[in-house]
Amino acid sequence: MMRIGYGWDSHAFKPGVPLKIGGIAFDHPSGLAGHSDGDVLLHAITDALLGAVAAGDIGSFFPPGDARWKDADSSLFLQTALEEVEHAGYRISNVDTTLVLAAPKIGPVAERLRERIADLLSIEPGAVGIKAKTPEGLNQDDVAVAHAIVLLEKIDEDSLLEKMAAVADPEVEDVQMDDVVRKLVGRTAATSRHKPGFNTDDIS
Ligand code: MG
Repeated sequence: MMRIGYGWDSHAFKPGVPLKIGGIAFDHPSGLAGHSDGDVLLHAITDALLGAVAAGDIGSFFPPGDARWKDADSSLFLQTALEEVEHAGYRISNVDTTLVLAAPKIGPVAERLRERIADLLSIEPGAVGIKAKTPEGLNQDDVAVAHAIVLLEKIDEDSLLEKMAAVADPEVEDVQMDDVVRKLVGRTAATSRHKPGFNTDDIS
């Protein structure tokens, strides 16, 4: 069984603010204004992951009025979304993204972005698509927009049981018992997991 999720976000450029996109710091005269670090790409991916498991949106978990998230590293939001995916019993199949911004150029850092996002999501770089376009004809050169789409696949419980059986065999060394147990315990905990109320406010 598979599920799909889509996320979108936009932030305005502001002079003198550090620029962070996809978990990478850019040397650029302006950054993205926001309550958090303004990482438009990580916000879009976070919403795509939450949407794929129908767990609300980024504003549900991290209300923009909450002082705890002032200047927060957006990878924290992404980790929370990953936990929701795991508790729902899914893993990421692949992620595809598109950035729309006039500057800086994404091409020269696209590979670094791909590896950084793959690392944050604990998936292979080959499962991460990074694309960028300039906002031709949109008159939006002072804004960065990010779109993200994710595909999730259900974790096969039969294969988990096979792994557990393999763990019982001392000759099999490449199976991580902790990983198997964590996933099974997480599945049980999902039934009593607290879900915040729906909130369409953006983190910005
Ligand atoms: Mg945002």
